[in-house]
Amino acid sequence: MDITFNGKTALVTGAGSGIGEAIAVALGASGARVIVADRDMARAEAVVGAITAKGGLAKAIGGDVSDPAVVEGLVAKAVAEGGRLDLLVNNAGIGGPQMPIGAYPLDGWAQVMNVNLNAAFYGMRYAIPAMLTAGGGAIVNMASILGTVGFAKSGAYVAAKHALLGLTQTAALEYSAKGIRVNAVGPGFIETPLLAAMPAEAKAGLAAVHPIGRLGRPEEVAALTLFLLSDKASFITGSYHLVDGGYTAQ
Ligand code: NAP
Repeated sequence: MDITFNGKTALVTGAGSGIGEAIAVALGASGARVIVADRDMARAEAVVGAITAKGGLAKAIGGDVSDPAVVEGLVAKAVAEGGRLDLLVNNAGIGGPQMPIGAYPLDGWAQVMNVNLNAAFYGMRYAIPAMLTAGGGAIVNMASILGTVGFAKSGAYVAAKHALLGLTQTAALEYSAKGIRVNAVGPGFIETPLLAAMPAEAKAGLAAVHPIGRLGRPEEVAALTLFLLSDKASFITGSYHLVDGGYTAQ
């Protein structure tokens, strides 16, 4: 399927690594001007290098998306760079502490909520006015399979991803008639640096609980995300799309 984003500007958060990197690279290869946002500027610059090496257009911007002023600045810089903002992927996320709810650290809870939920709100809060000015747009919020099912010792992550689905639906209700489609993607466990700290046997165990028999790849999440951002998905809004190797079919 041919998907092109020529003339469009895309902002991808957490684009210096893993799924966000794969999305940024795929958008760059499909003609979008990509604003590669990450709190690690060196990694964002490296992703920009990979995009421009293939003839794409990209710009790195640093900053912590849990700060609303930073997100407002990211959107302003994206508009300044591309003259408009058409596409937003709220992708930045962290796993947070692995603890049962009865012992969950309060600061860890706040941190996970700030990055995985509040930052996506800030992204939409500031990008939507810019998209309305541009005449429309498309947003993908990176949720998770853990947006619809629980996972022991990940209470903050699970709660943030569940909430992100409600926020996605509400934004879609408010803006779809104004030309902005808003959807969420639910990846299964994907082989990215987010899972790097996990012991090999735990990873193998996780792979085994996906009926397809392996972990996912960032490019597989990027393929779905690009489809949802594209005009090929013109009647798709307010919905949650799995790319989970069958995990939630069980
Ligand atoms: P990743 O490889 O760790 O990439 C996430 C990127 O976001 C990192 O570069 C990270 O920087 C950055 N980031 C984190 N907090 C940030 C902040 N406050 N401000 C700006 N940038 C920040 O993770 P990933 O696996 O690609 O995950 C991307 C998204 O997919 C997340 O929303 C995650 O919840 C979701 N997801 C992942 C999986 C999975 O199995 N991997 C499954 C379902 C959903 P640092 O490295 O400095 O933290």
